[in-house]
Amino acid sequence: MFNPLRFLWRVNNRFKSWEEADIKKYQGKQIDKLIKFAVKKSKFYSTFYNGFDLTNFSNLPFMNKQLFMDNFTQLNTVGLTKEECINHCLEIEQSRDFSEYYKGYLVGMSTGTSGNRGIEFVSKMEAFLMQLLVFFRFPFPKTRKIHLAFILRVFSPGFGHNGRKIRITYVSPLDTIEAIVEELNRLNPNLISGPPSVLHVLARAKDEGSLKVSPLLIISYGEVLSSNVKKIIETDFSCSVVEVYKSSESFIALPCKDGKLHINEDTTLVEVLDKNNEPVKAGKPGFVVVTDFIKRKTPIIRYKLNDLITVDPEPCSCGSKFRVIKEVHGRADDIILGRKTNSDELQFILPDYIRRSIISSSDYIEEYNAIQTSPLNLTIKLQLGANVEKQAMKEIERTIQKSLEKIFTIHASEVPKINFQYVSLKQDFDKKLRRVQRTFEEDFLN
Ligand SMILES: [Zn+2]
Repeated sequence: MFNPLRFLWRVNNRFKSWEEADIKKYQGKQIDKLIKFAVKKSKFYSTFYNGFDLTNFSNLPFMNKQLFMDNFTQLNTVGLTKEECINHCLEIEQSRDFSEYYKGYLVGMSTGTSGNRGIEFVSKMEAFLMQLLVFFRFPFPKTRKIHLAFILRVFSPGFGHNGRKIRITYVSPLDTIEAIVEELNRLNPNLISGPPSVLHVLARAKDEGSLKVSPLLIISYGEVLSSNVKKIIETDFSCSVVEVYKSSESFIALPCKDGKLHINEDTTLVEVLDKNNEPVKAGKPGFVVVTDFIKRKTPIIRYKLNDLITVDPEPCSCGSKFRVIKEVHGRADDIILGRKTNSDELQFILPDYIRRSIISSSDYIEEYNAIQTSPLNLTIKLQLGANVEKQAMKEIERTIQKSLEKIFTIHASEVPKINFQYVSLKQDFDKKLRRVQRTFEEDFLN
């Protein structure tokens, strides 16, 4: 019989007292069980792994979104078809009743930026285990009752709750910021969770006085949280901002009491690899490959995400040996690529360098986009405050140009031609905010 108290004890014990060797040992066992299960129960995996040595995990082929979606019907272990899941998702998107179960499962659909949508699907038990993990491990502020307002762009199954101690209310990112402000004022939550682009706008509303809530803690998810946006949100709300890192495939990391983002080593195996699929050292950026130990209905094994992260080489002050993610850099296809000056190779430049050099150039910059259309062309779109004179605009351009020149030069890359545009950049709350984007394809990680 499943005993939640025992689970609570285990979840906390692992996090607090496990050494690296304990983590490795546990993960090895979980991998073993998962692979045996997948080959036995999933038609897709039994064919996919045909001819591979199942005991050699790091030689197993990678999974990705395309493979997952193309083979969804054969991959899941409960006999649902891709078509029926998609139809169900389209229906609940109309009714927006996300708590509805389909044949006993919670099914959700994620939006892909290029229109390729992914299906996320969990059983009641899997959803319950993930909820428990979050509730037990998340550093909730000490208060009698938690009321979390969850600003949710797309539905993620299994996180609704209305208990005695914890209440979670979904706030849909409606069409206007005024509507979100009004809804939050009405709910008066003591915790707010949302994508940083929405939180950033809410911080402005808080500063101007239209938003009246005073949360104890703010949780950022779903997009890159840059250091300057974090600072603005913390200042305007006078509270801390912590990050959670979750994809449709796995709940990857949760913050600790010291605010650091720890990988959930006991539920997700995270591999951080370079472009030759070799593990990178902590402190260096690499792309994320996840294996989920909870999901059995849609086994997620060596699933290559499109994200780039850096693991912190330093241990956390909280004492846990679970690895800390120092930075989530964002989607690999939003990484700027410079053309090396001494060869034809492309050098990747992390988006945070670009973000920082633009935002620190002038206080007049309210919003911006950097779009790289080719290795030698970069468009910077700027939204400036009111009444900025031509002369000041020229000065801003010069400062940005200089700062970007420096960054490309440090990366031994040719400086692209920079084209400035002045536009109104209204944030569309239904879409992920991508301040730095690359529009040409280059599979630099493979
Ligand atoms: Zn910690």
